[in-house]
Amino acid sequence: MLLARNKSLRKVSRIVGIHPIRQRNLRQWRLQMNFLKLLRKKATTRGQQFHNGNAPVYNLEELLFRSTELGGETGEVLEAIKKLARMMRGMKGGAKDAAEAKKAIEEEIADVLISLDRVAEFFDIDIEEATKKKFNKTSKQKGLTIRFKLDKKTKNK
Ligand SMILES: [Mg+2]
Repeated sequence: MLLARNKSLRKVSRIVGIHPIRQRNLRQWRLQMNFLKLLRKKATTRGQQFHNGNAPVYNLEELLFRSTELGGETGEVLEAIKKLARMMRGMKGGAKDAAEAKKAIEEEIADVLISLDRVAEFFDIDIEEATKKKFNKTSKQKGLTIRFKLDKKTKNK
């Protein structure tokens, strides 16, 4: 009975391209997947699109590209803040208004996170776990009690 059911599910899965139960689980999994993991997945896929479907290359040239991209985007955040400061000081070259300045800062902060993740992906670093661990380390060093609960798998890494 179970074997027959599995056979028919496999048949359906071949037709629709994915197992119906796995498809439902996949939807749930996507909902539960945290944002950073989803960003990693989408940015990696988009990276492959950039390179005409070729698998990513992990060499020094690629690391330098991703690193300089991160540095550039960080500079763009500061540039957007500088334009806000110019506006507030009544200087030429400033943002048109506070809303425009905020939008530019928002976009550049997003670019920083995206490019930071590209660097983290190069080293297979889980930003969420790494950040929690570093946050806890600083709390411990400063004698503060606010801590993140760590994933058991990465606790001692
Ligand atoms: Mg940018």
